[in-house]
Order: sequence, then structure tokens, then C-alpha cells
Amino acid sequence: MNKSYVVIAEVRSGKLRQVTLEALQAIAIAKEDGDLVAAIILGHQISHIAEQLSQYVSGQIHVIDHTDLEIYNAESYFTAIQQVLDTLNPHAVFLGHTATGRDLAPMIAAYLHAGQLSDVISIEKSETEVRYTRPLYAGKAFEQKKFTGGPQVVTVRPNNIAATDPLDSQAEIITIAYSPPSLLRTIVKDIIRKTSGKVDLTEAKIVVSGGRGVKSIAGFKPLQELAEVLNGAVGASRGACDAGYCDYALQIGQTGKVVTPEIYIACGISGAIQHLAGMSQSRIIIAINKDPEAPIFKIADYGIVGDLFVVVPLLTEEFKKALA
Ligand code: FAD
Repeated sequence: MNKSYVVIAEVRSGKLRQVTLEALQAIAIAKEDGDLVAAIILGHQISHIAEQLSQYVSGQIHVIDHTDLEIYNAESYFTAIQQVLDTLNPHAVFLGHTATGRDLAPMIAAYLHAGQLSDVISIEKSETEVRYTRPLYAGKAFEQKKFTGGPQVVTVRPNNIAATDPLDSQAEIITIAYSPPSLLRTIVKDIIRKTSGKVDLTEAKIVVSGGRGVKSIAGFKPLQELAEVLNGAVGASRGACDAGYCDYALQIGQTGKVVTPEIYIACGISGAIQHLAGMSQSRIIIAINKDPEAPIFKIADYGIVGDLFVVVPLLTEEFKKALA
């Protein structure tokens, strides 16, 4: 019998998040021919995003558009998703391993009595099984797991699985009326964004990160300029955050954000194990450090021994010329 796969689409700042297309690709790998693929998208004034999403989904798109869903709130979102899940009876639900996905996934798994695999970075399918790979021990080891049955809930780490391509056909868009819960135990009053970068750190293709070696708030400026030229995002080590050079929203590592960009440029970062936990899966790592013995060079693909305040502006100038 054909099974039903559902992706919970994520919208941020009025845009569809890239990780939703990556989750759809994960479904494309995991499912069998003939299985159904549907999406649930929630928010306010999101019809244009649902239209965009419809190019990537073969089945139906369930749109729940309501003022209460403009800002993420676990209770409201879960109530809305629950309404659709009841009709879809999914075999598997896929989400991004983002703050929202990590919050919703266990609630959905509990509701469906499903098994859950989180933070999946790759999926392999053989004739007999589907294997999901996820990092362990802050990225020092990996485990491969498989489900023994359904229902299943999977969260996919951003930037690890290639995004799905648009399909030849468009999905049917179905509008679902939202019935708010009679009592919300919490209400989100406002969101105060701590970062002003144009590119989301966890989805950036290029991250320029600063450590204690940047020495001051002003020391981050050359890094911001390099990130701007490369259309990347700025990150930081906890050393830099603890020293007050930047906001903790930029922290990458075991107790910060996990990033897997195509290029990670570590400037004045020593390479402590807790920092590596958040960036070691990056495709190419470039380290700039004035200490040739810095541990970061052990995992770097390219290393530049030098003063970051000399090297970073030179890189910015050269990239500006090359990209002009
Ligand atoms: P340092 O280790 O002080 O390194 C600074 C580097 O800058 C040095 O290598 C130096 O040679 C270089 N440098 C100095 N000046 C220049 C210059 N002008 N040009 C070039 N290079 C220069 N850390 C994280 O990053 N993320 C986490 O999530 C995290 N979680 C943690 C959780 C726990 C429980 C614990 C105990 C620690 C955690 N840490 C985390 C902290 C971690 O152990 C390190 O202390 C921290 O990563 C060090 O930051 P840093 O590399 O910027 O600083």
C-alpha cells in the first residue's frame, strides 16, 4: 500500500527556508515509487510561499494561514499541524533540524506514537532498507540507524542534503481553517532579533567566524566586510562571545549553533573541541591564525599563518576583484 510522507515547511522572514527543500530531498530518497508526498505550511500571509513550495511537492500542500501563526508558538503550531495530521495519517513526517523543527518534532512523534531520528545528515537507501546517518559525541563519531516500522519522524540538519529540484507538475494547494486552542498557556509577545546579518547563520553557504583573536567589538568589522563580499554570515567562538566582542546569537559550537557551510573561515580561533563540534562538518575549512601550532590547523583544509587583521582585509580585496 502507498504510504504518505509529510514535510513541515518552515517560513522565516517571509521566505521559505532552504532546509524545507532539503527535507523534501530526504523524503525523495527515503520513499518508494508511488508513495504520496504532502507539505504543511503555517504562518500569516503565506500564499505566495505556498505557491513557491508547490513546485517542489508532488501531492498536496496544506496551507494554514492565520494571524495567530505569524510568530512561532509551539502550542498554536502544534494545534494546527495536529488538525492536518489527523486527516493525512502519515507514515513519516520530516522537518528541518532548526529551532522550530527541534521543538515540534518530539511533539509530533509523541502524538503519532512514532520513532524519531534527529539531526540526520545523510540518507542511503538499499534494496532492503533506508539508513539514516547522524553525528554523535559532538561530531567525533557517526551512527547509522534505520526504522523498524512507522510512523516515523525525522529532522534533517540544514546544509547537508542537497535541496530538491523543482518538479514538472505543481502540487494542489488546500487551505485549512485554523481553530485556535481555547486556552493558550503561553503567548509570544515579540521577537527581538539579536543579529542583523542578511544571511541566516545556520543556512549560510559561507561563514566567516571570529574568535578571541579579533580582540574587540571593532575587530569583527573586517570579518563582517569579508562576509558581505562573499554573501556569507558572521559567526563566532564562545571565546569571542564571552569576551563581549559579539552577541551569543553568533556562537558556534557544542553549546551554540551547528553550521555546515560550504566554506568556513575561522579567524583567530584556536580550535577547541567544543568549537569544532559546531563546524567540523563544513565542506572546506580555512583557518587564519598567527600561531602555527593552533589545533584548528589540524582540521583545516587550508591554513594561513598570519595576523588576521592583515590577512582578512587582503582576502576581502582579492575576492572583491575576483567577484566583480
Ligand atoms: P582562544 O582559545 O583564546 O584562541 C584565540 C586564538 O586566536 C589563538 O589560537 C591565537 O593564536 C589566535 N590569535 C590571536 N590574535 C590573533 C591575530 N591577530 N591573528 C590571528 N590569530 C590570532 N567554545 C565555542 O567556540 N563554542 C561552544 O559552543 C563552546 N561550548 C563550550 C562548552 C563547554 C561545556 C565548555 C567547557 C567550553 C565551551 N567552549 C565553546 C569554549 C572552548 O573550550 C574554548 O574556550 C573556546 O572555543 C576558545 O575560543 P577561541 O578559540 O576564540 O579563543
